[in-house]
Amino acid sequence: MSLAISALEYISNVKNGNTTAEEFIAKTLDQISKHESNLHAFISINEKALEQARAIDKKIKSKEKIGAFYGMPVSIKDNICIKDGKTTCASKMLLDYVSPYDATVVSKLKSQEAILIGKTNLDEFAMGVATEFSAFGPSKNPWNADYVPGGSSGGSAVSVSALGCVASLGSDTGGSVRNPASFCSVVGLKPTYGLVSRYGLVSYANSIEQIGPIARKVEDVALLLNHITGKDPNDSTTVDNQNQDYLTGIDSGMQGKKIGIIKEMSSGESLDKNVESAFWRAVDSFEKLGSKIEEMSLDMVEFTVATYYILTTAEAGSNLSRYDNLRYGYSMDLEGYEFKSYISKARRNFGPEVTRRMILGGFIPSAGFAGKYLLKALKVKNKLKKQIIEAFKKFDFLISPTVPILPFKFGEKIDDPLAMYMADINTVTANLTGVPAISVPFEIHNGLPIGIQIHANSLQEKQLLQAAYALQGTTNLPGVPL
Ligand code: GLN
Repeated sequence: MSLAISALEYISNVKNGNTTAEEFIAKTLDQISKHESNLHAFISINEKALEQARAIDKKIKSKEKIGAFYGMPVSIKDNICIKDGKTTCASKMLLDYVSPYDATVVSKLKSQEAILIGKTNLDEFAMGVATEFSAFGPSKNPWNADYVPGGSSGGSAVSVSALGCVASLGSDTGGSVRNPASFCSVVGLKPTYGLVSRYGLVSYANSIEQIGPIARKVEDVALLLNHITGKDPNDSTTVDNQNQDYLTGIDSGMQGKKIGIIKEMSSGESLDKNVESAFWRAVDSFEKLGSKIEEMSLDMVEFTVATYYILTTAEAGSNLSRYDNLRYGYSMDLEGYEFKSYISKARRNFGPEVTRRMILGGFIPSAGFAGKYLLKALKVKNKLKKQIIEAFKKFDFLISPTVPILPFKFGEKIDDPLAMYMADINTVTANLTGVPAISVPFEIHNGLPIGIQIHANSLQEKQLLQAAYALQGTTNLPGVPL
């Protein structure tokens, strides 16, 4: 059986006896070992995956009650904790850290008998857009290994696109699920803030980030979402979504739906011409599906990247201060150091991007500067939120290219933080306002993927997935040429 099947196909094939969990997991592990030296999607592999698959097959055979995933392989970004396994955040700072508990999303997937096939590579502490900042070396784009796979959940997107799993969980603080999904031609969803528990996700900027599913098909993202949402006593920001079923009615279509084109994200100098023309073809597709389309403006978008980096570095500065190498860390001898000099020496294990953000994060909220930066950023965030609330009174969806540029070559942006940060211009709005947004693969231009982003109002994931499914239906994209 091919590995290039959807989650729903996998489940029905196991149910029908066309394959077993063990057979599928064995094939998946083979696929991973065949491509891992080239693609580097994973930081660690679940050594017990085959054993777990056998146990699930046994349950199926003896007609015991079985979870919804039937042993389906799912990969997990390495900033989400799995009990008794390493959670490195792709940082030397957490080289030896073993998590004593499961993230809520992990225990939910385990209870539905997903097999967590491995932990995926990322930019250190999820800070980046290319996976180039992983302390363990970058992941490569399976469409062309000279190009970045996007980030920070690059390993997750690569593992899905290169058939190292059926689906994956990433985290999205400013686009880290949607950006690599777009660069690797897979689907990635950033849910409404609070829909999915962050308990067990290593915090970067916890006031805006969410865990989100990545898969090859929109319906698989819906299925995954069905099993990871809900109120969690361990995360006070979670909301009760009353066990919404995101899968039924996913094919409801787009007839009469009102779509706004976000002008500030879909035009201008910095938008790649090929991305722009692909985007207008997507607009055409939506029109043909019967939706009504209009251009609209969110004029705060101009300030969102600055706002995002001010707010996130301030939060990161505080969140990452716990890595003093005393409570968490790697082994470094205490002998011969004063308290402060030990910590500052130990912290040299942070990579350059994390270090930059921690320094900025100390400065931004400091006395004398908070008014100039932090408070202003909070004002922009509020204004943007008001504009989005207004926009959704008129529109069902707001669309844009997911990323304004095509996947780029390794090293192209690493020395130019501003250029790198500008790649986030279309994705950060959903995080700053809390609304859900999804990236849907739309075209392949000269061998490089282009994704389209759809936003919906808060907690409107059901409608959002219907729109994404309809758009997916207008495409006929090839699988990755491995
Ligand atoms: N590129 C953004 C950053 O570096 C987004 C990262 C993310 O979503 N985790 O902060």
